[in-house]
Amino acid sequence: MTKRRNIFRRIIIGATTVVISLSAYGGYRAMRSLILQNLKENALLEVQQGVNDIDQWLIARKTEVESLANTPTLRTMDWSLVGSYLKEEIKQSGNIVAFSDVFFIFAMVEPDGSFYNTKVDRSAKNASHREYFQRAMQGETTVSDPFIGLETDIPTIAIAAPIWSPTTSQPIGDVNGNVKLDRLTQVVNQLHYGEGSYAFVLNSKGGAIAHPNPDLLFNVDQPTSPILLNHRDPALATIAEHMVNRQQGIGIHTLDGERQYVAYLPLQAADWSVALVIPPENIEGQLLPLNAIALTVLGLTLSMIALLWRVQTFEQQQLQKTKTAAEAANYAKSEFLANISHELRTPLNSILGYAQILQRETSITPKQQKGLSIIYQSGEHLLTLINDVLDIAKIEARKLTMQPHPTHLTNLLTGVVEIIRIRATQKGLTFNYLPGENLPQHILIDERRLRQVLINLLGNAVKFTRQGSVTLKVNSSPTHQTPPKKFCQLSFEIEDTGIGIDPHELSHIFQPFEQVSKSHSKVEGTGLGLAISQQIVTLMGARIQVCSRIGEGSTFSFCLEIELPVADSQSPILVPSASTIIGYKGERKTILIVDDRWENRSVLVGLLEPLGFVLIEAENGQDGLDQALIHRPDLVITDLVMPMIDGYALLQNTRQRDAIKGIPVVVSSASVSMRDRQASLNAGASDFLPKPISITELLPLLGKHLKLEWQYEGKPEQKLEQSDSTPSVNEKQPTNASPFILPPPNEMSVLYHAASIGNITQIEREAHRIRELNESYRSFTERLLSLAQEMDDEAILVFVETSIASMS
Ligand code: ADP
Repeated sequence: MTKRRNIFRRIIIGATTVVISLSAYGGYRAMRSLILQNLKENALLEVQQGVNDIDQWLIARKTEVESLANTPTLRTMDWSLVGSYLKEEIKQSGNIVAFSDVFFIFAMVEPDGSFYNTKVDRSAKNASHREYFQRAMQGETTVSDPFIGLETDIPTIAIAAPIWSPTTSQPIGDVNGNVKLDRLTQVVNQLHYGEGSYAFVLNSKGGAIAHPNPDLLFNVDQPTSPILLNHRDPALATIAEHMVNRQQGIGIHTLDGERQYVAYLPLQAADWSVALVIPPENIEGQLLPLNAIALTVLGLTLSMIALLWRVQTFEQQQLQKTKTAAEAANYAKSEFLANISHELRTPLNSILGYAQILQRETSITPKQQKGLSIIYQSGEHLLTLINDVLDIAKIEARKLTMQPHPTHLTNLLTGVVEIIRIRATQKGLTFNYLPGENLPQHILIDERRLRQVLINLLGNAVKFTRQGSVTLKVNSSPTHQTPPKKFCQLSFEIEDTGIGIDPHELSHIFQPFEQVSKSHSKVEGTGLGLAISQQIVTLMGARIQVCSRIGEGSTFSFCLEIELPVADSQSPILVPSASTIIGYKGERKTILIVDDRWENRSVLVGLLEPLGFVLIEAENGQDGLDQALIHRPDLVITDLVMPMIDGYALLQNTRQRDAIKGIPVVVSSASVSMRDRQASLNAGASDFLPKPISITELLPLLGKHLKLEWQYEGKPEQKLEQSDSTPSVNEKQPTNASPFILPPPNEMSVLYHAASIGNITQIEREAHRIRELNESYRSFTERLLSLAQEMDDEAILVFVETSIASMS
């Protein structure tokens, strides 16, 4: 129980751990994506800052060129003045450092594209095809895409501004300051986000203006920028597309086979877009503490689960060990009980056997008869104790099982009633047996176990009643069907006017070894009977109920759902009253008794010889086999455990020899376990007879296997008794399967057909016809007619079926 609770507790802890871990993991994922989003936004902001710096730098350059363009000197468009002015400006102005550092050359372009520059003065080339010139002539200050300088032959960008006419306010030329592309790259390279990050710039067509990879870069050998929109790396092409569309954002991409963050933003000062490639660790590195916490939680969860699993495994091993030890102890106990029971049964066989033999002597005095009766009862009591202890051991080992078989109910009840009536009469109590009408004749039940329950409950009723009466009521419900099976409910009620049971004790009486302790009512018993009975009734699918009042009496009751056997499997069990059998008709039968104990053999000899059997004895299996081959007996009764060859080997040998293989062999053993019983039947035994041998069990077996017609004391020919379901112990008549004298089977077929289809008119017609056949069938036909009058076709069918079955 504690173990189960522990397992339950651990399941709860384990499940809670898993649930918490899953929620923690969910929380971690949500938190991580939130933080990451934040980190990305921060990164983009920083990149934005860097991009602004580039913008500022370009705007500053544009302003510088514009302010030059707006000087009166430039507006003269006279290179003799402008050239020296620009050269002078480069040398003398306060911006000298900035200019020489940034602009390495200035040019002045005339409206027709011819130009002068500070390197060659008048150039023979023409710049009218340059976009920056065309846009300047439209009044725009621009930053050009890279080109190869016409006079310098190096990659350059031009910052071009229009020179306005002082009179017409129209552009009359342009001035442009040229910057080396390397200088722009220096500016772009200032943009970074941690180690390993790099920036690149694309123009409005997707061509690379600045990039650390020279293969992608505009240069002298590659005077047109490679267009990244068509790049073979799809991630780079996608980013290029975003940039050309002047979008901004940050995302994770696989560039050159590596996961990288890329942030991209458009520039304001030029038609360009800047991208910054950032290694993931520069951004995600800040997630490390969170990851560490998550890993710690994961580690803890795994350790917890591992720990629980270890504890569980350990406990299971312990449990298995304990179970194995308990099974071994249980096995040893069962073995011990089986052995001790065997040892006790053997002397009991002699005691009970000889008590039965001597009781049948006619010459003994009443005093001797009384003494014998005490010996017999004490032996029986001892036997009950042994059986009870064995049953409890079986219940504890969960080995008690029901073995239902077709049983003649009236015979079973009559047998029980006979036993109890004697006990009640001896105590001066009235015993009432009140069977209900229409009790089924045959039922499927473990007859031995039902008898055991009834004898226990009735025995208790007698035991705990000082005066008054003990009553047994048995009733049945109408048959109901669940094709192909038929069922009915049988209720049993055992009522006494005895001492009653204290209400507080009622719940304990079904516990093993529980006796309600009251010194004045202390009587013999083990306190096992009710516990066993309750278990048996439970296995039969019901519960024993009790209701009791102190000083007034008790009622024990239970109601069983019983299956009825199909008609052709019914075989009435004749229970001859053993005490009245004095012999059998026909030729003498020879019985071989094989038992290593002379006292057991002599009990059987003492019981059977007076009935006219010829008995041969053998003291072991080998001897038994030899004797069987010599004498060819009609039946063999053998013990199981014997020296030389045992009962099983004897059975096998007998079944293998043609001369004797058909002889019925009854195994009689003091070992009463189901295993031995089944093993002997498997080895070829015809039946099993437990020791101590009871003559009421022995004779029916002999009658069955030797097909005997018994002779009874007094009325030897009486085969059928009249209708009375409450025979008294003193009745010396044999009971029969049916209480009615029945017509021969061939006269029953039409009746059976009519009953099976519920044709009441035809049933009545047949009942009248059968009565005409012989007056002795009157009671049978009267019963039929009374049922027909009640239109109870179900009861008629049961009645006809059981009557037919009782004839087989
Ligand atoms: P045993 O009869 O061997 O003591 P049981 O298990 O059959 O054991 O009964 C347990 C106890 O229940 C009895 O000792 C008795 O105290 C009480 N008991 C059982 N049946 C009756 C009854 N009919 N009337 C009064 N007490 C009873």
